[in-house]
Amino acid sequence: NHLKKYFPITKGLLNRTVGHVKAVDDISITLKPGETFGLVGESGSGKSTVGRTILRLTDKTDGEIKFKGQDIHKLSPSELRTIRPKMQLIFQDPYSSLNPRVRVGDAIGEALLDHGLASKGEVRDQVLEVLASCGLSSYHIDRFPHEFSGGQRQRIGIARALVLNPELIIADEPVSALDVSIQAQIINLFSKLQETRNLTYLFISHDLSVVEHLCSRIGVMYLGSMVETASRDELFRNPLHPYTKALLSAVPIPIPKLKRDRIVLKGDIPSPANPPSGCKFHTRCPFAVDICKQQVPEFREVGSQHHVACHLV
Ligand code: SF4
Ligand code: MG
Repeated sequence: NHLKKYFPITKGLLNRTVGHVKAVDDISITLKPGETFGLVGESGSGKSTVGRTILRLTDKTDGEIKFKGQDIHKLSPSELRTIRPKMQLIFQDPYSSLNPRVRVGDAIGEALLDHGLASKGEVRDQVLEVLASCGLSSYHIDRFPHEFSGGQRQRIGIARALVLNPELIIADEPVSALDVSIQAQIINLFSKLQETRNLTYLFISHDLSVVEHLCSRIGVMYLGSMVETASRDELFRNPLHPYTKALLSAVPIPIPKLKRDRIVLKGDIPSPANPPSGCKFHTRCPFAVDICKQQVPEFREVGSQHHVACHLV
């Protein structure tokens, strides 16, 4: 609720604060149990910071984050330890988070022992079970991370998160580093695991065609702000924010008669340290009018569970 995360910009020997990067600037999202919410936007829009702040891997600046009613930024270290296994993060490149000298089975089993979720005698069976549910086998358990392809490494990353029996998975660009053919396999794995394990996903991606297959609701972020949220079907059928329209117009669609006019955005995303006044998108918006430079558009409900922040909608 109203989550904000500002990073200070410091200068000089005494680290004087001279400004802030408003990475996340007043964002509210509700995830329902068992759903997949897709968080979409260009790099630098603040998506990853939202994910990391939810997991309390970084402190928030303002707002509150509740997990099953508990404000996780108010928990004591021991309460946080109990809740940690329930919320897991999956990274874009699991290789960078896997110790190259630790065998895959040990890397996965370590977490179980750390959290006291299994005894030494039980670990191997539990690791084998979770590997199997991720499409891997005993063949993989005693090998090292470098022996695997990108897709297999991502399966290992998923297995390592799942072994703790989480309820919420935050997946940050989990297929962006993979070949397209492998992407589909991993996305299917995410769907299958959701059904069998009743998982809730916050799925972060810069690519709308990736979230399309997996997500029931989608939120579009731009420069730290949410510009549009809607159900997947509504967002793809009736996108209202010019930024969402631009992102969608870049997605190849299989039905040519639905062809959308391509909206090409000018320039790069501005710096979040010095965001444009009014609507932050006005410097790139093909529809901008005078008021856009002066007034911040309100994030309003414009249809059933469809919210948009744009003066023209
Ligand atoms: Fe474009 Fe103005 Fe709408 Fe912002 S408020 S998206 S600049 S039309
Ligand atoms: Mg990111």
